[in-house]
Amino acid sequence: MKCVKCSKDATMDSGANPLCNNCFVQVIQKRIRKEIRTNKLFSKADKILIIEDDSVNSAVSKYLIDTILDKLPCEIKTKKQKFEIGKSVNTKSDKIVVPWNMDMECVYFLENIFMNRTGKFIGNYSIGKKLNIKLLLNVCEKDIIKFAEIKELKFKKNPDKKTQIGFFLDSLETDHPETKPSLLKSAQLLKKIKQ
Ligand SMILES: [Zn+2]
Repeated sequence: MKCVKCSKDATMDSGANPLCNNCFVQVIQKRIRKEIRTNKLFSKADKILIIEDDSVNSAVSKYLIDTILDKLPCEIKTKKQKFEIGKSVNTKSDKIVVPWNMDMECVYFLENIFMNRTGKFIGNYSIGKKLNIKLLLNVCEKDIIKFAEIKELKFKKNPDKKTQIGFFLDSLETDHPETKPSLLKSAQLLKKIKQ
């Protein structure tokens, strides 16, 4: 199979758009750049903290921040810490990049619906004056792992702590490949309505 962008041999045969490694990396980077631009996530003189929890999400977030913000004059720090959504992080930085991904967001959203919680921390969220940024919100876990492997980033493989909802989501995704992006849209819509 050929890559749809450059017609080299594709390395990913799943889905409608086979891609080679190189184009795959570019697609992901472009998506993150767009996310940063449209949501104006970072600007000059920002103090940014990246939470490092050894997961593939933090490894890829760190890589992307270093690559994409390399010319932006801002302060970038890292902190080794276990991450828990909605919990405040002790830091002097004003923006916190949290280890998160599309799959986690979908599970979080569904849990909130099923358990009638408020979904307070859907999307990027602020605690006090600190903005918590889910840089990889629009990238599914499978793609993040693929990205990390291509770039040879170090990370610890998560012991599979998947919840029932996680398994349910994966089974939906098998039959309906657009389940996760659609859920993500619903989550964002719900957040807008509530604001
Ligand atoms: Zn290609």
